[in-house]
Parts: sequence; C-alpha cells; structure tokens
Amino acid sequence: MTIIDTAELTKTYNGRGGCRGITLQVPEGCIFGLLGPNGAGKSTFVKMLAGLHRPDSGRAAVLGRPLGQPEARRKLGYLPELFRFQEWLTAAEVLRFHGRLGGLSPRETRASAFRNRIRDTLELVGLSDAADRKVGGFSKGMQQRLGLAAALLLEPELLILDEPASALDPVGRYEVRRLLKRLRDKGVTIFLNTHLLEDVEELCDEAAFLYGGELLASGPLHKLLGGT
Ligand code: ADP
Ligand code: ADP
Repeated sequence: MTIIDTAELTKTYNGRGGCRGITLQVPEGCIFGLLGPNGAGKSTFVKMLAGLHRPDSGRAAVLGRPLGQPEARRKLGYLPELFRFQEWLTAAEVLRFHGRLGGLSPRETRASAFRNRIRDTLELVGLSDAADRKVGGFSKGMQQRLGLAAALLLEPELLILDEPASALDPVGRYEVRRLLKRLRDKGVTIFLNTHLLEDVEELCDEAAFLYGGELLASGPLHKLLGGT
C-alpha cells in the first residue's frame, strides 16, 4: 500500500521558496528519506503532509485520506524541526499534554495505562531519568528526544520526522537511527527529512532528492545511489 501519495504538490511563500510540483509515493513499512540542503523545501513539504500548511495546488493523500482529515492525523506522528513546549512543565507533563492535543480525554491521560505509555516512551528515547525534570533546563539534544517521544506517544502508523537528530551528538544519532530501524521492523512507516547523505545511506529503503524546491529523483536507494 502507498501510505503517502502526492501529485504536483506546491506551496510557496508569496510566490517564493517553499516547494513546487512534488509528485511522490511512499510505500507502507519503509523508511523514506527526503534529502536536500537547507532551504530545499523539505520542511514546507512535510508541513503540508502534517496538515500545518495548506497547499497552493496539487493533490495529496496520507494514510489513504486527503490532507488534514482528523482520522488520518490521529495515526500520524509529526516531529517539527523545532519542538517547542512550556518550559515550566516536566517531560512527563509535556507528554501528558500532548496526549490531550492528540484527542485523549483528561481521564484517559490520567489513567495508569497512559502513564505507563509515557514512561515507556521516555525510555525509548533515552529520557527515563529526566521524566520529572522541568524541560526548561533541557539541552537541545534532550529537547529533540522529547519531541521524538511526543511524536511516538500515540503509537502512530506513520512517523514524519523533520531533521530528528540535528541537535544530537554522534552517539545520540546512532541511538536514534537504531530506534527508527526498530520501529520500521515493527511496521511503522517513517518519512525522514535530512540534509545528511549518511542518514539516507544508513537508514533508508527509499529516498528522494529535493533541491531548490524541486524533486530531482526518487526511488529505491540502490537505484538512486547508482547500483543496479
Ligand atoms: P528546508 O526544510 O529544506 O530547509 P524550507 O521548507 O524550510 O526548507 O524552506 C524552503 C524555502 O522556503 C526557503 O527558501 C525558505 O527561506 C522559504 N521559507 C520557508 N518558510 C518560510 C516562511 N515562513 N516564509 C517565507 N519563506 C519561507
Ligand atoms: P512555524 O514555525 O510556526 O511552523 P512557518 O511554517 O510559517 O511557522 O515558518 C517556519 C519557519 O521558517 C519560521 O520560523 C520562519 O521564521 C522560518 N523561515 C525560513 N525562511 C524564511 C523566510 N525566507 N522568511 C521568513 N521566515 C522564514
């Protein structure tokens, strides 16, 4: 099944920047890398997929539904390039709040099942020890891990990650890559924005190259990298 399907998708900022005419298919169950330098249009593209930007033109279906439908959004985890939150909350509180944003009731987010889910998710991203610390004191890398936890919290079928490891050191990057492979092996489809060819080589089954707002190529990695 195709989990992301776009045709000539376009969004510019008053006619400049953004991305233009993006036609792309992402098969279910893979890690798909959107590779391009800063300013290529990667964030603009995924913001449309996540329902945060309305396209100027073109069509797109995510999880089999047109953009922005609530049913599809609940199955989608999105990590923005900059994950912002209230700095006086603890990491666990940020995730509980995130559960509310994701449509859970106050009662559901107080239930022990959800509290366990928060604990497990923080463990997945290596933040177990920081669960009850205020996020105002978090390093950039910790903030990024917390953002990843928020994206993972409601067990999405599709994860859209905008440069998920940009603030991490090499060990952190390695851990995030390992986590993403584990999720992929459990059946989660992952769409990843990155400016690092290394991320694509290490992680991705398929990729696309974006430059100056336009798609240069897309397909299985062995084809893109010049294999057979
Ligand atoms: P990337 O994620 O690949 O770095 P972006 O999607 O953030 O690329 O940006 C693509 C282009 O659109 C850039 O030229 C950028 O300056 C421009 N752009 C992005 N966001 C805005 C905005 N809010 N207003 C105006 N221009 C923007
Ligand atoms: P948000 O960060 O709330 O999603 P936007 O999608 O409008 O807001 O913009 C994304 C980010 O891109 C903003 O922080 C904006 O400052 C930045 N940006 C990048 N390039 C430009 C540009 N050329 N003009 C204005 N903003 C830009």
